[in-house]
Amino acid sequence: MVSTNAAFTAAELEAETERLFKAFLQVDCTPGKSWDYEACRNFAPLTLEINRLKKEKDAVILTHSYVEPEIVYGVGDYKGDSYYLSLMARDAKAKMIVFAGVVFMAETAKILSPDATVVVPDRGSGCSLADSLSGDQLRKLKAAYPGAAVVCYINSTADVKAESDVCVTSGNVYDIIAKLPQERILFVPDRLMGENIRTELKRRGVAKEIITSDGTCIVHDVFDAPAVADARARFPGLKVVAHPECTPEVAAVADFVGSTGAMMKYVKTSEAPYYLMLTECGLVGRLQVETPGKHFIGGCRLCPYMKLNSLEKVRDALLAPRPDQIVTLDDDIRHRAARCIDRMFELAPKD
Ligand code: SF4
Repeated sequence: MVSTNAAFTAAELEAETERLFKAFLQVDCTPGKSWDYEACRNFAPLTLEINRLKKEKDAVILTHSYVEPEIVYGVGDYKGDSYYLSLMARDAKAKMIVFAGVVFMAETAKILSPDATVVVPDRGSGCSLADSLSGDQLRKLKAAYPGAAVVCYINSTADVKAESDVCVTSGNVYDIIAKLPQERILFVPDRLMGENIRTELKRRGVAKEIITSDGTCIVHDVFDAPAVADARARFPGLKVVAHPECTPEVAAVADFVGSTGAMMKYVKTSEAPYYLMLTECGLVGRLQVETPGKHFIGGCRLCPYMKLNSLEKVRDALLAPRPDQIVTLDDDIRHRAARCIDRMFELAPKD
């Protein structure tokens, strides 16, 4: 049983175990992990303790779809991709925000909710994309391309956002870039998404020159087109769903390319029985729970940074956050980064 100092009655533990078991019934997405009845009984004291602490501390827990299901379904108040969670962070009235995701997302929450105490369960939860470019490096790039509009993907550090004209997500990037007056766009930090944007804007008849920096996502950059062809041969009628952080070769052979939220919507509204999800395995876990009857084939790609989150670390960050778990930002950087994100809210299409 997991370690907790809180005391609960046998009836409370039984009811919590049942709740967790119902939520996890379909999940088998992480190799070597199981969410059977025994596992749920094991998590129950900790999820009860965290949910009690949330009320005492006036806290909300934001959970990215890529963290483990016991966090998403056990204690999360909001679950989704970084854009959705950034909106929830902006609108949160809580005194404390626990961001079960990665550090750049928690920084975004702090930018949007400066008065809240924002904490990360594990300070080591970086991101190969966000960490590929610093504010200093972006300043040098800007000097090399004067006059270009600087557009940063939301997967970037607060320093990079502070140096950018507008922030974008994989869902709103095309509409926002199309609205910018500049023809030359410096898009950072994802090189592969930049290549996919170039192709999509051309298809839409939008004339822009896209210059990129050299970051990639270590989860999405490894999928390959031959594996997609092999899966299609084995599963007739298969739908292939890819994230725009994948390579252009993979995007070209997918049935649908979109943000995490758009991928979920595509699967939920599609009739096909089989899906190959070219993204992090946590999204497959959510789909297993939320679209029973559909089948997900293919291997599992895990984001090692997202998987640093755990229930124990969430509990510790809530109970008595260590200094390294508390997100702080320099005021000037926070203000400039907030301007860049506000510009995104202004220019993004309203659903
Ligand atoms: S999945 Fe990729 S982009 Fe997302 S946090 Fe992990 S490394 Fe970064």
